[in-house]
Amino acid sequence: MNRITAFALAALAAVGAVPLAACNKKTDELCLYDIAATFDPSSSSLTARMTFDFVNDTADEIAELKFNLWGNAFREGAKYAPCSAQDTEAYYDGVSYGGMTVTGVEGCTGWETGGEDQNILTVALPQSVYPDERAQVAITYTLNLAHVNARTGITEDGTVNLGNFYPTLCAKTAEGYVQTPYYAIGDPFVSECADYRVSITMPQNFTAATSGRELSKKVEGDLCTTSYELKRARDFAAVLSDSFRTERAEADGCAITLYYQGDTPPEGLAQCAAESITYFSETFGEYAYPTFSVVMTPLSSSGMEYPALVMIDPSLESHDAAYTVSHETAHQWWYAMVGSDQVNSAWQDEGLTEYSTLCFFEAHPAYGFTRASMLGNATKAYRAYFTVYSQIFGQTDTSMSRSLATFSSEYEYANIAYNKGLIMFDALRASMGDERFFDALKEYFQTNAFTIADEEHLISAMDERYDTQGLMEGFLKGKTVI
Ligand SMILES: [Zn+2]
Repeated sequence: MNRITAFALAALAAVGAVPLAACNKKTDELCLYDIAATFDPSSSSLTARMTFDFVNDTADEIAELKFNLWGNAFREGAKYAPCSAQDTEAYYDGVSYGGMTVTGVEGCTGWETGGEDQNILTVALPQSVYPDERAQVAITYTLNLAHVNARTGITEDGTVNLGNFYPTLCAKTAEGYVQTPYYAIGDPFVSECADYRVSITMPQNFTAATSGRELSKKVEGDLCTTSYELKRARDFAAVLSDSFRTERAEADGCAITLYYQGDTPPEGLAQCAAESITYFSETFGEYAYPTFSVVMTPLSSSGMEYPALVMIDPSLESHDAAYTVSHETAHQWWYAMVGSDQVNSAWQDEGLTEYSTLCFFEAHPAYGFTRASMLGNATKAYRAYFTVYSQIFGQTDTSMSRSLATFSSEYEYANIAYNKGLIMFDALRASMGDERFFDALKEYFQTNAFTIADEEHLISAMDERYDTQGLMEGFLKGKTVI
């Protein structure tokens, strides 16, 4: 996500951190999500059947599957609502509810929805699946869409944001499945890479922006079904609209499409996405997907990242919009390709993404951002936050390695994960020198692409080239004075 300036207080839930121990990966084969979804505008709902091919890539036998039902956090009475009911920017039409209801599961001996906030679907398999073996289940479900400017919902511009629109297999750790509720602060998603085949049926006058490469299109009566595929990605997202226009660009063989509403495309954003892809590919490693969709669609934050698709809030003025496009594009490297534990180590993707954005603009001075101005702004904002929080709470927790559940506001989260993250990576670069710093990031990318990297993977990539352990520890544990 990109930073949000709202000072929305979040519930201080006492949830223990689940360390993401690296899975003992036994196979290179990936799970496959095969989703056939139909969107009905008259009921603001999506009905779908998802066939899930599970492959056991762990060293242990697995008797049950657990899926996150992110869409269910939008229901009435959710304990962890993605947006506060008082957030009138998100709930543009007054409070509205949605939800994800599983209506059947085939290929199992039983299933139930539960978890801390009706957010987990548990499916009991007919027999244990041993390492390298496969199993298949088919889940039918309905996703009711709230009228909300959020990752999942019908927006005030009538676009249909389909982030997290299907049951998503919980990431597996040595301790079991990660069953995080939908924290309002940050991006509470942790998922493993899989392959996707997705078909979306919708009225013929609708256009879909998706994470996938289009395979086929079929028109039947008033409806149109389009099929897509995406390989080695940790999520699949789409945005639908009956009034999208498009602008195309290209970067290193990747087809970029900017989706927008209105008469003219927002100036320079398709080009900014193309330049960002080229720059990050050269700086860190190659972009892995054949397409990239940049979608102008209302959000209560300024942007949101999914693999091969980013959502950008159209109300941003052009300077902020370019910044957000580059930030969300950098997430293709730090989140989409190199995954991390976004719940317990948000600095690892957000801090590095902010710093990668700084590096992009430093290399492209025509946009008007400089390294000194970005570092100066982050430092000023961080010091102001520290002063305010010290005055309110007396003692301020400035550690970075902690759960989303421990942040009391977006303001605190933005300053710790984004601003302090940016300041830390600039301090690392200044101490190591450019060559060692960028070599370390290249290696971190190449070694960890398509996995979920621990903090230690990033720390050691730096420390192997220069003695940075003390510097990083000082920042991460909140001991460094800024
Ligand atoms: Zn972000």
